[in-house]
Amino acid sequence: MFDFQSLFGNAANEPVAGQKRKAAQCYDTDLQRVESQLNALPISVLKKAKDMKIRELKRFLTLRNIHIPSGIERSELVNMVENRRDSTCSICLEELCGQVVKTWPCGHIFHATCNLHYGLGKADSGRTSPVPCPVCKNPLA
Ligand SMILES: [Zn+2]
Ligand SMILES: [Zn+2]
Repeated sequence: MFDFQSLFGNAANEPVAGQKRKAAQCYDTDLQRVESQLNALPISVLKKAKDMKIRELKRFLTLRNIHIPSGIERSELVNMVENRRDSTCSICLEELCGQVVKTWPCGHIFHATCNLHYGLGKADSGRTSPVPCPVCKNPLA
């Protein structure tokens, strides 16, 4: 069951105060502000930005109180959302930051424990061929 309250409750409460303090001190540009606001969003709400039209992207961000600077390119927004997605484990969708991680030959990074459970799951299902990366489907060498 998706725990809506804990995810959005946290994001909406404490970090915002800290964000506002930071914003006054160290964000020089609107882009950095957008980036920091994106980083405060729970990763599970972020969809693949590459598949989104600029209008969808803007609507998605505006609904989350992220003001889009005028004149911003779609590619800039897409990059920011994708960067945010890259800082998370694609198996459990949680932050990689500060955790023991496992890097695959394709360059994708997962929590070591998530990686282990993923591999064990494949082994349990009787799989003997190389296990594909959960993101890009390249086999683990
Ligand atoms: Zn994980
Ligand atoms: Zn991969």
